[in-house]
Amino acid sequence: MDQLSDLADDRLINDCIFCGGVADTRDHVPSKILLDKPYPENLPVVGSCQECNQGFSKDEQYLICLLESVLIGSTDPEKIRRPSVSRAMKRAPALRAKIESAKKYINGKVAFSIEEDRVKNVILKLARGHAAFELSQPCRNEPDHYWCGTLESLPKEELDLFDSAHIQKLLGEIGSRNMLRMFATEVTLQSESGVLETMNVVVNDWVDVQDGYYRFLAVDDAGGVVIRIVISEYMACEIGWNIYA
Ligand SMILES: [Zn+2]
Repeated sequence: MDQLSDLADDRLINDCIFCGGVADTRDHVPSKILLDKPYPENLPVVGSCQECNQGFSKDEQYLICLLESVLIGSTDPEKIRRPSVSRAMKRAPALRAKIESAKKYINGKVAFSIEEDRVKNVILKLARGHAAFELSQPCRNEPDHYWCGTLESLPKEELDLFDSAHIQKLLGEIGSRNMLRMFATEVTLQSESGVLETMNVVVNDWVDVQDGYYRFLAVDDAGGVVIRIVISEYMACEIGWNIYA
């Protein structure tokens, strides 16, 4: 992915972006376990303390192994389509057994019960990482809005809305990577009475970290910070902090 230099005032995100403690290590956002080799160049990194950093890895492993099992309806490492996850499942038989025991059948279809706390732990980590790295916004508080589901569960209209780029109303943290990524474009809108109006808009688009595996949209606008994440083109999440309320 293209990596942009951050020109914003970063005093607020120099500490561990998760707890505010001393950042004595660095964490990739997204974590490499959610991607596959060859990894994209210039993966974002954020400052983190050891404790927070280590607090995520087991849950991240759980999430990706669960997700890949859901996608094929099985925990069989031989069937898992991603080599890195297949290896992780072989290395961690206890984790595989745990996911297997969460397997159930609903109307004859395979489904898995989800440990929502663990999924949320990972999703919030990712969202906070994107907010810090892309928007230069520390979002250590509990979010005001959290939704996690699947793309296929969204009705067409909601899916289109979720997938669309964001048209920026206000400009965010000056010099943040997100702001450097945005582009201006001219759009022509037709009113109900048929009048055409041309205007310039600033577009904040999704960032494809790795095609098919991970993409996100980071928004800092009048409504606050909103992060949308799609993992494996299956799991979809939206997290929001009303930082201007
Ligand atoms: Zn920490």
